[in-house]
Amino acid sequence: MVKILFNSWFCNFMDAGGLMMYPFVLIATSEETTHKCVMRHELIHIEQVEREGILSFYFKYYSNVIKDYLRHGDLKRCFLHENPFEMDAYSRQYTEFTKRDLEIMRENGVEWSKRDQRFYCRQ
Ligand SMILES: [Zn+2]
Repeated sequence: MVKILFNSWFCNFMDAGGLMMYPFVLIATSEETTHKCVMRHELIHIEQVEREGILSFYFKYYSNVIKDYLRHGDLKRCFLHENPFEMDAYSRQYTEFTKRDLEIMRENGVEWSKRDQRFYCRQ
């Protein structure tokens, strides 16, 4: 079961809004203040793991990071802009939650609806 943890000190330490470390979704902020796009982004990574398989996901993800790092030496760029898994997550983070997203959130007691507009995201 996927476990969502809010107020993650590790995210704050890493200066990240969210981090997916399967089967954990770590979110920097509280449930009340988390932006939907942050949750959606991390749940897209869960979807990627569930599609690829955990070993394949991490192997491909970090192969890309290493390859990009050796190419241009900019670690942040490797994680944010040139990784196909990140490009996928960033391109879809403003879309509605899927059935699977809602199921994962419900299992964690997070009752956000598909079209909930409370948590506005800046594009
Ligand atoms: Zn990401």
